[in-house]
Amino acid sequence: MTALVYDLPLPPDGEEWCSGCVMLLRGKVDKEYHSQAVELAKDGRDEVKLIRPKVPGAGRLRVAVVSAPFALAPELGLMRVCWTCAAGMAPVAQSSLARPGLARG
Ligand SMILES: [Zn+2]
Repeated sequence: MTALVYDLPLPPDGEEWCSGCVMLLRGKVDKEYHSQAVELAKDGRDEVKLIRPKVPGAGRLRVAVVSAPFALAPELGLMRVCWTCAAGMAPVAQSSLARPGLARG
């Protein structure tokens, strides 16, 4: 079984990658290379194949700057994330309900 190992960049010295960015990248990489990993696992060899994934967003890992819930999976609790992953990346639809202090009188 040849194991597929991803060669991804290390964070800057003394820093760590945002856990949210890593989770998003991991999902993209797994989706892109899943069939290749399955095929390699059937080859009967005891080897490692190192690849540099070429997926959109692979170069957009951000440094973690805060402990906060990952906006896309808050159920995971506090994680070390970047501001983008803490705040959420998708625009949130504005409520049609009047908000206190903003209602016209
Ligand atoms: Zn992030």
